Amino acid sequence: MNHICVLGSLNRDTSHLLTRLPMVGETVHGIGTSSSAGGKGCNQAVSAARLGARVSFIGKVGEDKGGEQLLKVLREENIDTSHIQVDPDVPTGEATILIQEDGKNAIIVTAGANMSIRDEDIEQAYAAIDQADIVIAQFEIPIPAVTKAFAYAKQQGKVTILNPAPAKEIPDALLQATDILVPNETEMQVITGAELNGDDAIRTAAGQLLGHGIRYVIVTLGEQGALICHADGAEHVPAQLVSAVDTTAAGDSFIGALSSRLDLSRWHDPQHLREVVSFANSFSALVVQRKGAIASIPHSHELES
Ligand code: ADP
Repeated sequence: MNHICVLGSLNRDTSHLLTRLPMVGETVHGIGTSSSAGGKGCNQAVSAARLGARVSFIGKVGEDKGGEQLLKVLREENIDTSHIQVDPDVPTGEATILIQEDGKNAIIVTAGANMSIRDEDIEQAYAAIDQADIVIAQFEIPIPAVTKAFAYAKQQGKVTILNPAPAKEIPDALLQATDILVPNETEMQVITGAELNGDDAIRTAAGQLLGHGIRYVIVTLGEQGALICHADGAEHVPAQLVSAVDTTAAGDSFIGALSSRLDLSRWHDPQHLREVVSFANSFSALVVQRKGAIASIPHSHELES
């Protein structure tokens, strides 16, 4: 099993279930609320850990109740938290998730400690990268910190997977240090500035990124599955046909599954990527049929049934 280092965000999530999302200036009555551990980094780490990967986390929380709860949840998932800093000067990140009854969602994130990760913090956590096979990161933490970590990871011969979410411009130094880029369709549109109507348009847009040292661009397409783009072409891997109740953590579970099942002796082979993406589609299809973020992520023993 792979050893994965997740560099990313940790949030306390509060979810509100609604009949539909409010429009500007409108008040909508909620059906119910709940709170849990979240953040893209947390969801991706928990997904990989529940699939049996060894996971260590680089991140930051505040010295508060939210931070304490997050560390406890990660430890219960057997995730190594020794490289998570507890900073007394910043609050733990928070997210408010609005979920419509049909499963569609809107999310507000207040980054707190996540956005105070500095280059020095990354240097102090190099040991976590040294021990890992794969390093994964998202954009809910400062991009310079991700760039620093990926540049070091590449020097050490690690495989790097970037989930550019929420979408922001990706600096050249980070593109050059990324092996596999995994945006959803909206993020791909923001990153490339291209109008993406159909697989051919996505493949063309991915061509702009593949020249920069990136071996694969895997664009997740919700209920359509995912498109794997590489130098020699593109392949659409369809999603499972299921009835979604809550798509929170769909993309995060996809990345956790992808990184946990990537065979590092075969990852250059597009056929192997196809198998892994097909597995990730199946894993995420289970996630969207359940409510919540980490509450919806299956354990490996649930996969057979
Ligand atoms: P994000 O959550 O980042 O917006 P997507 O919506 O593209 O990402 O979903 C990620 C993956 O989750 C998809 O590639 C697919 O495998 C799975 N997925 C998402 N929505 C559905 C759905 N309605 N039915 C089946 N699978 C889904």
